[in-house]
Amino acid sequence: MKALVYHGPGACSLDERPTPALDDATDAIVRVTRTTICGTDLHILKGDVPTCEPGRILGHEGVGIVQEVGSAVTAYKPGDHVLISCISSCGKCEYCRRGMYSHCTTGGWILGNRIDGTQAEYVRIPHADTSLYHIAAGADEDALVMLSDILPTGFECGVLNGKVEPGSTVAIVGAGPIGLAALLTAQFYSPARIMMIDRDANRLEISRRFGATDCIDISALDPAAAVMKLTEGVGADCVIEAVGVPASFELCEAIVAPGGIIANIGVHGVKADLHLEKLWDRNIAITTRLVDTVSTPMLLKTVRSGKLDPKQLITHRFKLGEIDKAYETFGHAADTHALKVLIET
Ligand SMILES: [Zn+2]
Ligand SMILES: [Zn+2]
Repeated sequence: MKALVYHGPGACSLDERPTPALDDATDAIVRVTRTTICGTDLHILKGDVPTCEPGRILGHEGVGIVQEVGSAVTAYKPGDHVLISCISSCGKCEYCRRGMYSHCTTGGWILGNRIDGTQAEYVRIPHADTSLYHIAAGADEDALVMLSDILPTGFECGVLNGKVEPGSTVAIVGAGPIGLAALLTAQFYSPARIMMIDRDANRLEISRRFGATDCIDISALDPAAAVMKLTEGVGADCVIEAVGVPASFELCEAIVAPGGIIANIGVHGVKADLHLEKLWDRNIAITTRLVDTVSTPMLLKTVRSGKLDPKQLITHRFKLGEIDKAYETFGHAADTHALKVLIET
């Protein structure tokens, strides 16, 4: 089969690889029909993710059709259309029993990291019963690819951890796919104001279409001063960090309101300063999280009912044979205006 293989920092290629076989009784083999590229894949290519070793097939998002199941798999059978979760979970370990699937002792984020992933014609899914989701007949499978990772990540790490409430003031730092996923799902709770902060005019324009009440272009404005002006000097109740660099985290510290929450989503590779000399008496909380995908069943229902339309995030389409072009397009988002690129196999 064809698969996108990581060969070490800066190097990947579409290679011929053996089709995966069942390894465990709880595995399923899924024929991938659609996948996509995540910002995390770009981190891997930069060499930022040491758990992902050369030779690994990348990708942790996708939908497909079950091809084969192990003898212990009871919830799925060949022919079933499925959503692949970026998080694998055994359902039995202490973390899984607490709903913290991201830290499953034999799962978590392993696809396209510690084991071969979804940017291929076939993928082996461990713990299939508790790591796949049924797709109803007739569902828009393009839209559902956004539910493998970015929608639950924006919602759980940003909106749920940030405790967005009716009438609250939300600031989202970073209008990339994850920030936009947080913007879309924050609206479940009717906050009074959602301010999007980015330096890319195109992404801010999209943010406005997706429901942002205020867009702050940091290439033109001092973002902290702009947020303070919009909130009459108070700041935001919920500040969502969706970039992952020190400056963006420190901006969150500067704009959080007394009693507010900084909900970090960004993948941080270097340290950021914590300004306790300014924050010690402000009753704030800072949260971090790896997505658990506990909200996936709920998100599936909201997409099915039309309350949420994640298909709006897809800007480009490619075939698996053109995946190098897909990486090129996604990797130069400022020029190509890419958000999510859909790859059909
Ligand atoms: Zn991802
Ligand atoms: Zn587990």
